[in-house]
Amino acid sequence: MATEKKKACKECGYLTIEKECPSCGSKSFLEKHKGKVVIFNSKSSIVSEKLNIKNNGMYALKYG
Ligand SMILES: [Zn+2]
Repeated sequence: MATEKKKACKECGYLTIEKECPSCGSKSFLEKHKGKVVIFNSKSSIVSEKLNIKNNGMYALKYG
């Protein structure tokens, strides 16, 4: 397994190695983040509702 360093989007917490957030389009990222949650079905997930996540993907639980 490759250990690529993902950054957390400052706006929505999306974890990515891209320079632009695929979820919200933000270009602000934080290198420090804690925990992660993977959303498979953002439309019917209680977690995504709590975190206000609209797209599937991997998100940091704590960031900023
Ligand atoms: Zn984002």
